[in-house]
Amino acid sequence: MSGKLTFTMIKPGAVEKEYIGPILKMINENGFHIVAMKLLQLTIPDAKAFYEVHKERPFYNSLVESMTSGPIVAAILEKENAVEAYRKLIGATDPSKAEEGTIRKLYADSIEANAVHGSDSDENAIIEGNFFFSTSDKFFKG
Ligand code: ATP
Ligand code: MG
Repeated sequence: MSGKLTFTMIKPGAVEKEYIGPILKMINENGFHIVAMKLLQLTIPDAKAFYEVHKERPFYNSLVESMTSGPIVAAILEKENAVEAYRKLIGATDPSKAEEGTIRKLYADSIEANAVHGSDSDENAIIEGNFFFSTSDKFFKG
């Protein structure tokens, strides 16, 4: 059964361009409820740990650098079938391939600085939510 929660980050490039407001507006207008949210700057060890699964990829160091270049917004979002619905709203990883009207099509600069992160499974949503929110267990347990 699909879960009701997902995890997102608004990445440094989008925060710097003052896209927090427009992105949160799209999130709300598409029926997501924000259950937890904070603005913070990732340290290099934080970003390395968060993107550990990508550590063998050629873009890993550059991604870590980009994700630590300024503040991010971390949030847990609630909606039916949240993971899939949010991946649809954000669009393809590469904004040049993202569908019209998606967050990445509208607000991303490049495949790396692609405006937002969205969890890719219920399992990862829990892991990622717990990475940022010490109290997130209560959301995921319902
Ligand atoms: P996210 O996990 O951030 O929601 P995603 O699931 O669409 O994005 P992943 O394959 O998990 O994409 O990649 C994680 C992040 O690594 C991407 O969001 C992007 O910032 C960066 N990335 C992915 N592929 C590339 C690439 N070819 N070149 C540069 N950066 C990349
Ligand atoms: Mg991913």
